[in-house]
Amino acid sequence: SSQVTSVLTPMSQVNTSTVAVKQIYHPPAVTSVQRYRTTAPVLIPCEAPKDKVPHDLRQRYVNMFTEEFLKTTTNVNDAFEKALAEERTVYNRSVNKLKYQSVAVNALKRLKNQSAVAAKGGNLWKTQTFLNKMSDDMALYDSLKDYILTEERLIESNYPVQHPEKPGCAILFADNKKGNTDSLKRICCRCGATFSVSQTGKHIRKEECNYHYGKGVKNKVPGGVETRYSCCEGVMGAPGCQVFKLHVHDSLSLDGFVSTLPRHPGPDTGCPGVYSLDCEMCYTIHGLELSRVTLVNSGLQVVYDTFVRPDNEVIDYNTRFSGISEEDVKGNHTSLREVQETLLSFISADTILIGHSLETDLCALKLLHGTVVDTSVVFPHRLGLPHKLTLNNLTAEYLRRIIQESVCGHDTAEDAAACMELMLWKVKEDGKLKK
Ligand SMILES: [Zn+2]
Ligand SMILES: [Zn+2]
Repeated sequence: SSQVTSVLTPMSQVNTSTVAVKQIYHPPAVTSVQRYRTTAPVLIPCEAPKDKVPHDLRQRYVNMFTEEFLKTTTNVNDAFEKALAEERTVYNRSVNKLKYQSVAVNALKRLKNQSAVAAKGGNLWKTQTFLNKMSDDMALYDSLKDYILTEERLIESNYPVQHPEKPGCAILFADNKKGNTDSLKRICCRCGATFSVSQTGKHIRKEECNYHYGKGVKNKVPGGVETRYSCCEGVMGAPGCQVFKLHVHDSLSLDGFVSTLPRHPGPDTGCPGVYSLDCEMCYTIHGLELSRVTLVNSGLQVVYDTFVRPDNEVIDYNTRFSGISEEDVKGNHTSLREVQETLLSFISADTILIGHSLETDLCALKLLHGTVVDTSVVFPHRLGLPHKLTLNNLTAEYLRRIIQESVCGHDTAEDAAACMELMLWKVKEDGKLKK
């Protein structure tokens, strides 16, 4: 196959308006492709003169994305459109050049994975062959039994458990956020500010929330050490690089819970099921609420995936981390109640649910479930609790793959699949040891 080379159209016009940060691009016309002998669409710069990401860097990624999309798309124009859209997403998720590069590299990896999968006829990773040998989920289910959290461990890890007196209510034993006694005061989980709310939970004053989402990273510099935020490279103490209209809090309401039920008595109907689960949440006036849920089966296929409309007024979609925007949830009428009903239709009390720190997901789903395999427990941090390895640490170490760049939104299907793959890997390793 011919090597993809692309040529950047010379800038004929630069929009110098500081207001217009809108990116426009010319639809890839066949003539321009022929003229420049390029196989990638050309990105026309229209940003403010001092853009956060150099135009030639962006064009390079447009080219590379195009190359990948051309492997899976027969229509060239479709590949062009997709590549431009992909680049646009990467660009929108990046605050600076450094972050752009890391997000773009991850996006490219994902696309390469996808085209590799497509090339192999949908055969995912080498665990698939292993799985086929296991004949059905029952063998996997039995192998995973050793990893199911004990009741003590569930409590210790702050999983929601049935409230002893109130039906439909959960209790968190390790809840350490109860320090706040004033019911009309909240502490912002982003910037740490205290803010006042009305009886209904609405903000009394409109105050901006200004913070750094990154961590302080120490760097050696001539003459000493300096600490900079990982998000924006700003020096420690610099004003926040992220500004939101309002403060948010991350309380989880503990009512409206449903329990998974034992399977109907009768002849054994086979495996109770093994699924991996990941959720996204957004900030509402009542704290954290579910905005998306995805379940993946042991074949790494998505079996359930839906956006969810939160019950209460949304303050912030948490788009940077969740990848979810208002458009995703707006016009979606799936309620938490409906999600619960659907889940209970195929998940019983014996179904194994796999996830990474699944306690928050179960709280968001308002689901009481005791048969849990938690990858943060199966693969513990060498320093022990409260230290935990991130899912990204684990996939990099065990699956040799990078996912979930912190600046870019999570992909629930990718995260859920990663947890499933980690457990498939673990079970496979156990099998090796037994021999
Ligand atoms: Zn910052
Ligand atoms: Zn705040």
